[in-house]
Amino acid sequence: MFDSCLRRYYFHYYLSWGGWERQAPRIAREAFRLKRLISLPLWRGQLVHYITTKVLASMRAKGRIPSFEDVSRYTLERFETQLEFSSSKRYLTEPKKKGGRLNIDWLALFEHEYDRPIPPEKLQKTKDECLTAMKGLLESDILAAIAETDPDGWAIENIDLAEFAQVFDFDGAKVFAKTDFMYRDSDGSFNIVDWKTFSAKNRPQESAGGQDGKARVQLGVYGYYAASILGEPLERIRLLEVNLLDGGATIRYSISNENLEEFYRHIRGGIDKLSSVLINSDISRNEAALSDLFPKIDNGLCRYCNFYRICRDENNPDRLP
Ligand code: SF4
Repeated sequence: MFDSCLRRYYFHYYLSWGGWERQAPRIAREAFRLKRLISLPLWRGQLVHYITTKVLASMRAKGRIPSFEDVSRYTLERFETQLEFSSSKRYLTEPKKKGGRLNIDWLALFEHEYDRPIPPEKLQKTKDECLTAMKGLLESDILAAIAETDPDGWAIENIDLAEFAQVFDFDGAKVFAKTDFMYRDSDGSFNIVDWKTFSAKNRPQESAGGQDGKARVQLGVYGYYAASILGEPLERIRLLEVNLLDGGATIRYSISNENLEEFYRHIRGGIDKLSSVLINSDISRNEAALSDLFPKIDNGLCRYCNFYRICRDENNPDRLP
């Protein structure tokens, strides 16, 4: 977001801050409402990640991989319930989190908020891909391998609590890592798994695996966390990118001392970059510098941007200059 449109980044992370409070300025409340909109591909990813945690929790409780029949029934149930929630705009009146727990069926689709029609074939494709991803998971070699390990060594992302499981201090900055799943294998290896829901055929080039891919860097940061914070020996850490839409095809990355330095530099560079738009680059104050740093751009993204209404919509007299 920072690289594609700084203004969007500003709306998302700064303008919207506090927008959940009734007495917050109107523009903050509007930005908060808009920041939570998601696209169909993001919804697919969110739903698949959630049901994957449920599959793992069920395996831990029952000691076996659930049937595709049960998982697909549950997936379709969530899909339809969430779709109805969003299309009836219940996201405007119902809280996403209550009593510390997430309402897992809470959904606000971009199209519903902006009253844009969703072509039925696009919806069907999203639904089919959710089912394909779940089938990919259930039939994958990695799930079979996980089933053979001791569940006491599993760390399943707790989506219901909507909290970051891993927070660590990095040169005085707070870094949040959001691993999907970690497990200890019988050979003592420490495995960090990231579930992907883009097929290799159609996912964005820059997020693809390979030496310069984003997935490698993302997993590398988790590897840094495992080595530097949890104290796992490097030779025991395995980083696994699992592509659920490709039948659970898994790309494995290892981590060496050299990589560790690279990922250190990556995190350091990220903190420097994000703090460059703060007043005095002060991360403890964490206040965005004013306007000039967050210009409007024109790269074709605007029409699909969550913040279109407050940024570019000529019919909106309240849009920001
Ligand atoms: S509408 Fe365009 S310029 Fe405005 S925040 Fe979105 S992407 Fe950036």
